[in-house]
Amino acid sequence: MKNINEYVHKNVLVIGLAKSGLAAAKLLHKLGANVTVNDLKAKEEDVAVQELLELGINVVTGEHPPSLISDLLDVVVKNPGIPYSNPLIVLAEEKRIPILTEVELAYKISEADIIAITGSNGKTTTTTLIYEILLEDKKQPLIAGNIGTVACEVAQNATKENVIVMELSSFQLLGTREFKPKIAMILNIFDAHLDYHGTKDEYIYAKSKIYENQSADDISIINFDDEDVMRNAGTSQAEKLFFSSTKECMDGTYLKDDSIWFKGEHIIEIKDIVLPGEHNIENVLAAISAVKLRGVSNHSIRKVLTSFNGVKHRLQFVGDVSQRRFYNDSKATNILATSKALQAFTTPTILLAGGLDRGNEFDDLKPYLTNVKAMVLFGETAPKLERIAKESGIEVIKRVDNVEQAVYSAFEVSTSKDVILLSPACASWDQYKTFEERGDIFIGAVHKLN
Ligand code: ADP
Repeated sequence: MKNINEYVHKNVLVIGLAKSGLAAAKLLHKLGANVTVNDLKAKEEDVAVQELLELGINVVTGEHPPSLISDLLDVVVKNPGIPYSNPLIVLAEEKRIPILTEVELAYKISEADIIAITGSNGKTTTTTLIYEILLEDKKQPLIAGNIGTVACEVAQNATKENVIVMELSSFQLLGTREFKPKIAMILNIFDAHLDYHGTKDEYIYAKSKIYENQSADDISIINFDDEDVMRNAGTSQAEKLFFSSTKECMDGTYLKDDSIWFKGEHIIEIKDIVLPGEHNIENVLAAISAVKLRGVSNHSIRKVLTSFNGVKHRLQFVGDVSQRRFYNDSKATNILATSKALQAFTTPTILLAGGLDRGNEFDDLKPYLTNVKAMVLFGETAPKLERIAKESGIEVIKRVDNVEQAVYSAFEVSTSKDVILLSPACASWDQYKTFEERGDIFIGAVHKLN
């Protein structure tokens, strides 16, 4: 860890005591700052609060008192999920106090180079692929981001020998100022999180911050096929490396003759890649771009791509039972994600779907149901999905109470070679705490079939 002194005796307020807030507060304390932590929901007796109090860190729970934004305050570090409309953040902005996320701290203290990945979809998959390939090639990678490790905690243990592979959301990126990754990429831009960012331009601005501080000795990896990404690529001062699944980018990573190529060099045939789906080919193109820049051998790339069967809950191959292939795509909480999953299969598919009703209809799913021979529906949206199934001429439609029953029901109506796919197109919160819990129940039920 770099021993920086810019926070010594500085008054810092950390807002939001999730995992990242706890890590940021402890790090800032270690760096000599006078730290106060504020959280609306936390309670005095919480383990995290007790841990901070024992370190001598001031903790204010149960309210957001405006007095915390005093004139003596130097910096605010906020949890990425806290909106800029939060009264304390508004006050801090009025006083022109810098508002950071812990990612900025991670950058400042990291001795290791950072490979930063953002985009609307595919972040976790691409981050994991890059990490796995670097690991296979003994490049000593560390992984940080939504996969469970907090960036500023990972950075504390990183040395020059390491490279940190960091997944970043637009929320995290908005709180950066000097963040300067060695390699940065925006995979794609689809949704706009309008509730948080206000406008699509604001969202794109947040994403583009990933290469805002990059210079000529850094590299920006850019999706040639995404209009919004391309339009903003000009804001990067770094060397640019393009990837594309539609055009032969001779100086980058591209598809030709059913294979992936990097700058004219053959890397792997598409048929040998285990991950299903065209969207995953884009993730693979992006990942190959990054690892080739780190000097990884093609052997290591092939080894991972011919065995990696997906990040848990993201079109994850669960297994074969009586020649039926089961896939867990519980992370697909919207129509776009489910449509991507359906496009990944050309064989007859049984779709397990349903969940929280957010008020939307599912007509946009219809064009992707051509290979779907049966739908097994559960949760609040089951009636809406049933209408879509009927209108699409799907003959077998089952209504069940939960995911476990859905697995048994799907198995009953399946025949050899079918794909049985959990891709709910809905959030899980009507029946399950998280999409992970829903996916785990699916996996458990599949294993019980054996
Ligand atoms: P994120 O971390 O950005 O949410 P994940 O890798 O967890 O992305 O994938 C979530 C879902 O997004 C997947 O189940 C898939 O349906 C969809 N997806 C993944 N990669 C892409 C991509 N490159 N383009 C479009 N959709 C994608």
